[in-house]
Amino acid sequence: MIRAAILHGPGDLRIEHVDEPEPGPDEVLVHVDAATTCGTDVKMWRRGHPILPPYPARFGHETAGTRADTGERVLVGDSLACGECRQCRAERPQICRSPRWILGGFAEAIAAPAGALHRVPDDLEPAGAAMAEPLAAALHAVERAPARAVAPDAGVLGGGPMGQMLAALLVAERRTVTLADPHAERRAQAEELGAMAAESLADHDVVFEAVGRPEAWRSAVEACAPGGCVVFVGGCAAGTDAQLPTRPLHYDELDLRGAFHHAPAEVDRALALLADGTVDWRALAAGPVGLDELPTALAAGTEGRARKWVVEPR
Ligand SMILES: [Zn+2]
Ligand SMILES: [Zn+2]
Repeated sequence: MIRAAILHGPGDLRIEHVDEPEPGPDEVLVHVDAATTCGTDVKMWRRGHPILPPYPARFGHETAGTRADTGERVLVGDSLACGECRQCRAERPQICRSPRWILGGFAEAIAAPAGALHRVPDDLEPAGAAMAEPLAAALHAVERAPARAVAPDAGVLGGGPMGQMLAALLVAERRTVTLADPHAERRAQAEELGAMAAESLADHDVVFEAVGRPEAWRSAVEACAPGGCVVFVGGCAAGTDAQLPTRPLHYDELDLRGAFHHAPAEVDRALALLADGTVDWRALAAGPVGLDELPTALAAGTEGRARKWVVEPR
């Protein structure tokens, strides 16, 4: 038996003893060393989520652990692309039409497809390794934007964990970075990693939207310089429309680009950047906490400093 966090319905999270997961033919049992919390987990817990399997459901998708068969330290990737759809054939696995999602990091063990595992660099702790999942999404968003040579001045709208990770990557590329957030703690955090902070943005070559609300999508467009690019990183609630000003889209030739998820190679790059200290994962880490404290951690996650709770299930 193992202990695992199980969702039984919206808001109904229980820590239970369950059978150890039985790995399928292409799967490996991984003992979880650390799993980090994310805004998506909060959504899954409070109101459910389209990628959750039917209840009772396991969740947690930023997961680092140790392979039961080889003892190798691994990051458990949270998805496996089908490899066959049109988007996969165009080498865009992050928008695969039939991905297999791998959830269940908030547990002592998880069965995961061997193809979704990434080797963790020796000098990277499990909590840092788990953060390679969101950092890979931030890397992908930067990849979607014009390079520094044409877009040296970047704005980041939103100072949550994703905004902070974007700012860290852009600072590492030696772009001029301004992060905007209404919370003073989050602005201070951005300054600590070498960005400038502001309450709002204006006239940037590239603007990264990392809030996920329609008003913020509009603000991001309004904060973009003529000829610039807006990258939408924050997903809005299902069914949401955003009202965008048409004038700059046409007369200023703004490029609007979505950025979703990541490709496996971006996960490996993220692990390397965490291991060599380019991105300081400790600046975002809170805890560690055990499985029993997971509901409290999820409830506390959205106020004050941007942080990700490190859950150590064992
Ligand atoms: Zn996440
Ligand atoms: Zn596919």
